[in-house]
Amino acid sequence: MRYLTIEQREALGAQIARRAEALRAEIAAALKQPGDSDTIHLANHLAEIDDDAVADLETTLEVAALERDLAELRALDAAGARLHGPDYGVCADCEEEIPFRRLTANPAATRCTACQASFELKQGAPRSGTI
Ligand SMILES: [Zn+2]
Repeated sequence: MRYLTIEQREALGAQIARRAEALRAEIAAALKQPGDSDTIHLANHLAEIDDDAVADLETTLEVAALERDLAELRALDAAGARLHGPDYGVCADCEEEIPFRRLTANPAATRCTACQASFELKQGAPRSGTI
């Protein structure tokens, strides 16, 4: 049984598309050297780091930020693919319906709030995560 209406799914789909587009722009910008659109910024960093711990740290932070963006983009793409399927909006752990309000805040959510909290507790992940 599906609990989300077609209209709700389409609204979430539009939200997923908007967020994915913003992330793609963010990722593209992160990969570009300012002033030189053909240069891969991160690649330059990696070439410079040899003995420089500061550059190393910067690269680590940039890569971490980029990986977060890519992970969110992947989650959004997956959510977009599931959007009109029977599993979308259903908690992966307890199989209860994920509240529409939660999906509006995070269309890529695969768990209800309670299951996500206990999942993050088990993972030792910070509560302030995007999912
Ligand atoms: Zn649940």
